[in-house]
Amino acid sequence: MIELKDRTALVTGGARGIGRAIALALAKAGCNVMIGDLGASDSAPTDWAYELASSDDVAATVASADSIQATNLNVTDASSCADSVRTTLDAFGSLDILINNAGIVASGPLATFSEADWERVFAVNCKGIFLMTQAAQSALTAAATEHGHAAVINTASIAGKQGYANMSAYCGSKFAAIGITQSMAAELAPAHITVNAICPGMVGTAMWLDHLLPTNATERDAKNDEFEAIMQKQIPMGRPQSAEDMGEAAVYLASAANVTGIALNVAGGVQMG
Ligand code: NAD
Repeated sequence: MIELKDRTALVTGGARGIGRAIALALAKAGCNVMIGDLGASDSAPTDWAYELASSDDVAATVASADSIQATNLNVTDASSCADSVRTTLDAFGSLDILINNAGIVASGPLATFSEADWERVFAVNCKGIFLMTQAAQSALTAAATEHGHAAVINTASIAGKQGYANMSAYCGSKFAAIGITQSMAAELAPAHITVNAICPGMVGTAMWLDHLLPTNATERDAKNDEFEAIMQKQIPMGRPQSAEDMGEAAVYLASAANVTGIALNVAGGVQMG
């Protein structure tokens, strides 16, 4: 088992879904973890196509390990990003691993897709990576000096490697996330900061169950069953991905001091390039 003892991680969008599983996997490997999420505030926005994380989601994730704390974070706001880094340093003394995982999806035909939704998808999925990494850069540099290396891991997507109908905003933002990953990897290598992306395949989180899945079901369990049945047929390995699969990949990339600039598919063979 990979150990990350005495390391500190900040996981954006860590209240639920993939971010929560990454936070738990890092905590299990020995890290102190700060989760940053909109859901940590009482005034989380409710104006998106599906509900984003709630304060209950944040509380549940914090309660699941002694080494996990939470802070309110909006990755589209530079001062909020800076605050989350300060809070992490105040709580744990260093920042070794930044997981830029917060993301939103919106799908719909080009003809009717709104400009506002386009801008918000790019603001969270791309500008969020830029603002958070910029805010964390000096803390990561200090951690790399102290511990040998530091790591940035961006949750991109297989939608960053291939386009899908009705998904131009989301796919565009995820292709961009991979480009940002490569640029930052080249730039931050001399500081011994690795920068990699994870490209999840299909994970049954709110993005799928509350937005992308074509279904009339309203109950979570029924939606989950439909999702599983569809994905079992589409994915070569015969099952959808779990959020825990992404946690394993994040722990590996956080520990791999000489791996940088990659976009790692964790997708059961559904995307191989
Ligand atoms: P999710 O909706 O469960 O999690 C996203 C989290 O990000 C939520 O907790 C939400 O509150 C938070 N968030 C949204 N906007 C934010 C902001 N401005 N600032 C801070 N936090 C914010 O969905 P998920 O599937 O767990 O998604 C996590 C990441 O994985 C996203 O980047 C997503 O694009 C990516 N991804 C998901 C899948 C999938 O199949 N579910 C596949 C590929 C990539």
